[in-house]
Amino acid sequence: MTSSCAECGQSIVGRSDKKFCSDQCRHQFNNRKKRIHEAAILNINQQLRKNRTIIKSLNPVGKTIVRRSILEKMDFSFDFFTHLYRTERGTTYYFIYEYGYALIEDEKIVLVKYQPYMNRKVYDLFNQRNPDHT
Ligand SMILES: [Zn+2]
Repeated sequence: MTSSCAECGQSIVGRSDKKFCSDQCRHQFNNRKKRIHEAAILNINQQLRKNRTIIKSLNPVGKTIVRRSILEKMDFSFDFFTHLYRTERGTTYYFIYEYGYALIEDEKIVLVKYQPYMNRKVYDLFNQRNPDHT
């Protein structure tokens, strides 16, 4: 019984349960499949990275207020963030990794950096990765 390679279509000799004619075809097939799956993640990671760079550049001291239009001009995307932090007063901060923002009055935005009280576990993780940044 013969079957054909899932990558190149050549007929396969030998065991009938073999899916590929060679290791090279198996690698090519699996790599392509992986690339397709990873593309969606990569696209979102790219936008997250861009968002983080933008708010990091606007917030060098730890807390800043900027106009929403400034972020929009820099092509910041309000759709992409990593997690939320909600204060006791009910303000929601949108975080992109360790940098966050909240919408406030008059089309303004407050930018903040992650603080220990927001989530001990995440804070510890950041400190482990960046022992110099406390
Ligand atoms: Zn093949």
